[in-house]
Amino acid sequence: MNTTCPICGNSNNCCNGIDKSKGICWCTQETFPQEIFDLVSDEDLRKKCICQECLHQFPNK
Ligand SMILES: [Zn+2]
Repeated sequence: MNTTCPICGNSNNCCNGIDKSKGICWCTQETFPQEIFDLVSDEDLRKKCICQECLHQFPNK
């Protein structure tokens, strides 16, 4: 499943991984700093979405 955050393991609430009929995901409208992707392993990158909470807790945001 791609519905868990690769950083904290909680649900990422990403509808890109769940149901696209619900419209565009919150993550499509957010800006993700490049540095946050350094926290994600290559394996999970582009497969799992970072959750909103981790994005907002990221120091450089
Ligand atoms: Zn998270």
